[in-house]
Amino acid sequence: MQLVIDGICKRYENKGRETVALDGIDLVVKKEEFVAIVGPSGCGKSTLLNIIAGLTSPTSGEVYFERSEDEINLPNISVVFQEAGLMPWRTVRENINLGLEKMNISEEEKRNRIETYIKMVGLEGFEDAYPHQLSGGMKQRVGIARALTTKPDLLLMDEPLSALDAQTRIVMQEELLNIWNQEKHRTIYITHNIEEAVYLADKIIVLSRRPGRIKSVIQIDLPKNSRKEHQSEILNYRETIWNLIKDDAQQAIKEDIDG
Ligand code: ADP
Ligand code: MG
Repeated sequence: MQLVIDGICKRYENKGRETVALDGIDLVVKKEEFVAIVGPSGCGKSTLLNIIAGLTSPTSGEVYFERSEDEINLPNISVVFQEAGLMPWRTVRENINLGLEKMNISEEEKRNRIETYIKMVGLEGFEDAYPHQLSGGMKQRVGIARALTTKPDLLLMDEPLSALDAQTRIVMQEELLNIWNQEKHRTIYITHNIEEAVYLADKIIVLSRRPGRIKSVIQIDLPKNSRKEHQSEILNYRETIWNLIKDDAQQAIKEDIDG
């Protein structure tokens, strides 16, 4: 079953002013593939992710799963945003359970999954804590566990670590890579941090400045279970990708200033 993103265009209309956010995005994401999307601010990354999630409709084009005849179950999609969006009156365990409430699985299976993912994101001992008792990184871990418990066919992440301090961010990058090595979720991961993209992804999609088009697709040929040992290659990839983005990024900042 592969995810197909076919000719996605998006035009926003606001008070008579038109913004073309995306122009002709084509992309296929296979099972177990981790794709990162990078590009200058305002190039349409979040718009694309929301369209794939089914939260925004495209102006034209479509997103679908190409399924074989024996794959009858509807694909299930989880989304993680920059803010975890936890319910303050629910404990960690209850927040993680949110994703499972509507699923047709036994109570025992639900409990097992919650235990598994609490362990996987390193929140053991905090099961009964409330969100206000947690640090930013821990809240985001709850959000990630909640997204994973449904065993999604597609995991969508929009800048999931961007609100965290630099050190927590590095720790969480490692955790995300470990989780992927265990579970191998098909993932589309948006980040403005190029190094993070290279550290985590199999493939990086570089978008151009608005209207977002695919400027380049870069395969990261480094083993996923020992990325940390390839620092110099990671920096080389970062350099290559930054050279592709930098003019667009400068231009995007200028347009922001000029209005
Ligand atoms: P990114 O996530 O890459 O920073 P976005 O997808 O958030 O980019 O936005 C792409 C462009 O579309 C921007 O110019 C933004 O201002 C515009 N845009 C996003 N959402 C809306 C909206 N709801 N209405 C009008 N314009 C929007
Ligand atoms: Mg965004």
